[in-house]
Amino acid sequence: MNNEKMIIIGAGAAGLVAAITRARAGQKVLLLEQNNKIGKKILVSGNGKCNIDNRYITLNRFHSQNPDFVAKVLEGYDFPVVEKFFTSLGLELVEGKEGKMFPVSLQASSVVELLEYEAKQSGVEIVCNCAVTNIEKKGDTFTLKTSQGKKTSEQLVLASGSPAAPQLGGSNSGYAFATKMGHSLIPRHPSLVQLCSEESWVKGCTGVKVAGLAKLYANGEYITEKKGDLLFTNYGISGLAILDLSREVSTRLAGFDYCELSLDLMPEFSKEKLTNLLLNRVQKESEKPLGLWLQGVLNKKLIAIILEQSKSRVKIEKELNRKEINKLVHTIKNLRLSINDTKGFKGAEVATGGIDTTEVNPQTMESKLVPNLYFAGEILDVDGDRGGFNFHWAWVTGLRINQNLKD
Ligand SMILES: Cc1cc2nc3c(=O)[nH]c(=O)nc-3n(C[C@H](O)[C@H](O)[C@H](O)COP(=O)(O)OP(=O)(O)OC[C@H]3O[C@@H](n4cnc5c(N)ncnc54)[C@H](O)[C@@H]3O)c2cc1C
Repeated sequence: MNNEKMIIIGAGAAGLVAAITRARAGQKVLLLEQNNKIGKKILVSGNGKCNIDNRYITLNRFHSQNPDFVAKVLEGYDFPVVEKFFTSLGLELVEGKEGKMFPVSLQASSVVELLEYEAKQSGVEIVCNCAVTNIEKKGDTFTLKTSQGKKTSEQLVLASGSPAAPQLGGSNSGYAFATKMGHSLIPRHPSLVQLCSEESWVKGCTGVKVAGLAKLYANGEYITEKKGDLLFTNYGISGLAILDLSREVSTRLAGFDYCELSLDLMPEFSKEKLTNLLLNRVQKESEKPLGLWLQGVLNKKLIAIILEQSKSRVKIEKELNRKEINKLVHTIKNLRLSINDTKGFKGAEVATGGIDTTEVNPQTMESKLVPNLYFAGEILDVDGDRGGFNFHWAWVTGLRINQNLKD
């Protein structure tokens, strides 16, 4: 049994699991949360359904400057370990597409309410509306200045998350505390975030959603591509394929690269298949306006853009020939959109970067610089892909806090 008192800053995913794990082991735990309630990001996650984890945990789904650290933390902590933890709370999980796991209730609130119940049952003291504003360590004691007075403990966990989604409690404060105690920071950028464009034509397509393919070019060089929904908006573009590309875009924009997307609006049709489809549709005597003719294959709002960008001079169906069809096909499969910004941390689900993990023990999450200081969750320089991987990181690092303390 470890009798030393532990304070955990942040009652988000990582902090709640760390608190329950330590309290179950008999330790006295005080969990401090600046928001008026716990688990705000969990509550909105997965559009309120909470994509709690992913059945298929592989290293390439996580991003960090120190992949070796990620591998060591995840070793032995695959999905079944997380599932076992949630089953112990009475929460059953169900699988969706691509291994995504959800609570059977499909309600994020059931996850938070069961975590809260278990934390309290295990003896965790939870204090909301309690913002930590300063930390000092003298001898073996951490002294915290908070909006509810001074608090002290022998052990401290920074589970205060990242600056992503400040409206839900996202903050930089944990970084400030850690750097003051000697830790280093890897630069943070918004990830899983919508992208902005200054090109005026996108506004005219607001609300249009297609199952497409987005290729990213930086300074003219092909970087990567993602398939999935493309959603045009009044500021630029969103949708699942865009969120999946956004980490790369965000990092490159920060490095002043020129970023451009090439959008394939009909990825299910190869260039040849689409050319043949369009050629076969042309009726030689038809006076049908070209815009109307294209409505047979494309969203109305996108047609004006395709015609403008393909520089087609054809006005009616019967004027179409192979050369004109080639121009249309090229534009439908290669619509260019320059990207000048992201929607920032306010629109982001997570942040890249964070506490340099070379300074953290992957077995125990303890700082290598400050004894009895621990880290859990997104505060570390690790972020995951969309699909439950970010929560997996938060749950696992919360469970890991358990590892070196003599129960
Ligand atoms: C809209 C949205 C949807 C998401 N959906 C998913 C999803 O479906 N699946 C998935 O895997 N991931 C999802 N994520 C990402 C996931 O929510 C985060 O990766 C995860 O919550 C990180 O957990 P954490 O405990 O490290 O940080 P957080 O959950 O952010 O918790 C940190 C807590 O610390 C508190 N805090 C910060 N500073 C202080 C301070 N100084 N004093 C006191 N308290 C403080 C904050 O208020 C916060 O409650 C989503 C994120 C967002 C924003």
